[in-house]
Amino acid sequence: MVAQATRSNCNHRLRRFRRLGPTRQAFRGPSSRSPFPERLIREIGVICGSFLLCGLTLLTAAVPPLLAQQRVKVFIAVDMEGVTGVVGPEQLGPTGFEYQRFREFMTAEALAAIEGAREAGATEILVADSHGNGQNLLIERFSPDVRIVRSWPRPLGMMQGIDSSFAAAVFIGFHSGTANPAGVRAHTFSSANLAGLTVNGQELSESGFGAAVAGHFGVPVVFISGDDMATAELRALVPDVETVVVKQALGFHSALTATPAAAQARIRERVRAAVIRRSAIAPFRVAGPVAVEITFKNYRPAEMLSYLSLFTRTASHRVRYAARDMVEATRILQFVEEYEFGLAP
Ligand SMILES: [Zn+2]
Repeated sequence: MVAQATRSNCNHRLRRFRRLGPTRQAFRGPSSRSPFPERLIREIGVICGSFLLCGLTLLTAAVPPLLAQQRVKVFIAVDMEGVTGVVGPEQLGPTGFEYQRFREFMTAEALAAIEGAREAGATEILVADSHGNGQNLLIERFSPDVRIVRSWPRPLGMMQGIDSSFAAAVFIGFHSGTANPAGVRAHTFSSANLAGLTVNGQELSESGFGAAVAGHFGVPVVFISGDDMATAELRALVPDVETVVVKQALGFHSALTATPAAAQARIRERVRAAVIRRSAIAPFRVAGPVAVEITFKNYRPAEMLSYLSLFTRTASHRVRYAARDMVEATRILQFVEEYEFGLAP
């Protein structure tokens, strides 16, 4: 409709141009005192204005396609404990007899999220493989324009790759934090080593910590899938976040689960809805400076870290440190988690 209106508008202006014959004769007339009679100047003005208007109309018609090509970048962090059907170690690591099958389900949930995001207008996707060894996703299943972050260590941990150019962040397969008494495989960053993590006095799980990193860059976390405990934890921090509960926690190693196909369909549908209404979901921002307190399961990490002036030992198993912002807080936490004497190569 815009194109038709443009054409008729231009034709109208051309008809006006053809009517200029008499004006040109008047210009040649002997009685003319000025070489540019007033009427001619007026008509030239009308013609120029008309062509300018046609040009602007054509340009306006071309703008919507240009806007449609605007970049919409979506960041997707994928963990595994919150993937459909996962209840224990047999699904979670290379030695588990079900691991290879559950890598398929994990990958399929990430792909469902990508499809939903694309249906909502996403033009660029970055996926962070954020579970275990960071090498779980079957990368050959992704389309060539998707970029994937793999393995550790990496400065921003589970959120590696996020920056302020992203429009939204999506969490797939997330689990609840170590302070949650009811979630499937509830832990924070390390089930073997950490018993608690607070940021500015507030206990944060991996989803909350990740949301605060995204919030540092002004990016809202718009979606999370996992068990009912994991989704409730993030909703407490980000009330408008879209959630898909793929299983109900019955215990640390037990759940009432949906089937992979049913969960993937829901994830696709709700990620689409979440990315569409991303501007209505506020980023979770933690104001700096950031005070982080880590409680270890063992005694000696707290003892050794207290040798460094950056850390204050606040209890037998606990240290505190201060960081400028969530990026620095994450980098220090990555160091605490990953450093070991004799690291090689
Ligand atoms: Zn995790």
